[in-house]
Amino acid sequence: MKQGFHKIIGLKIDVDTYEGMKNGVPNLLDLLRQFNIKASFFVPMGKDHTGWTVKRVFTRKGFLRKANRVGVLETYGIRTLMRGLLLPGPEIAKKNRLTLNEIVAQGHEVGIHGHDHVYWHDHIKEWDKTKTSAVLNRACRVYEDLLGQKAHSFAAPGWMINAHALRFFENHGFLYSSDTRGSSPFFPVMGDSHLNILQIPTTLPTLDEVVGLAGNEPLSLARHFIDSLNEGLNILTVHTELEGKRWGGFLKDFIRLTIDQGFTYTRLMDIAQMLRDNSDIPRCTIFYGYVEGRAGEVSCQKLAN
Ligand SMILES: [Zn+2]
Repeated sequence: MKQGFHKIIGLKIDVDTYEGMKNGVPNLLDLLRQFNIKASFFVPMGKDHTGWTVKRVFTRKGFLRKANRVGVLETYGIRTLMRGLLLPGPEIAKKNRLTLNEIVAQGHEVGIHGHDHVYWHDHIKEWDKTKTSAVLNRACRVYEDLLGQKAHSFAAPGWMINAHALRFFENHGFLYSSDTRGSSPFFPVMGDSHLNILQIPTTLPTLDEVVGLAGNEPLSLARHFIDSLNEGLNILTVHTELEGKRWGGFLKDFIRLTIDQGFTYTRLMDIAQMLRDNSDIPRCTIFYGYVEGRAGEVSCQKLAN
């Protein structure tokens, strides 16, 4: 029972696009209600500029190969891919205020998933303290306006984070952030910065990293993910654009089978609360690395120093 957890799954639901917020979130709320489980949603507080990712086709090795495997065009649709290119980028949170409040009303958690997802993902590595704080302050203001309370959690778009952002969360009383790929919660070290903000990493791969490599059927994929679970704490990141739409069957199979096996579902904020008085939380370095099936770098937990 590592860090006192026994068969826990934290379901982290990332909203990346306007479409995912508008249509994927309601589908996921229905699914969670069917199983009577609670999850943590992370929502960008600014505009949808998914179209900017089209640029990545030309600049990033492996992006086209992955885009084909996941069926980017079928998943996101041409309108979403053109957002920020030819069509104006719509506000993801502000234009879906009712849906945002409905998430909370149904007992789930809402955290911040950056302001502009694409801009953050592509540039956070270069941002200094001033730029990073300006973006986060904007995102926090939108969150407070829409939800009437302060934000207490954050998940980095594309798992890309920097030390200034982590310091911001620490200084603004956040409970935790979830920005990395790793194995268990820790206090981060980035460069010279030792941070006292709890980091809850995503411990499992994402569906888009595995589709085509470990099968194509929802049930066989769900079984593949279940084989990767450990007996302690697991964090699964899903996307409203995938599991909230055409891949909903995968998530349904995964939840059903894991509940049968005795796993319980907990919001990430509750996991953070449980760890509040735990003195066994290690300090680990965060580095930019690579994970199988994903093009580009992600922030990773370094296991042994
Ligand atoms: Zn995202």
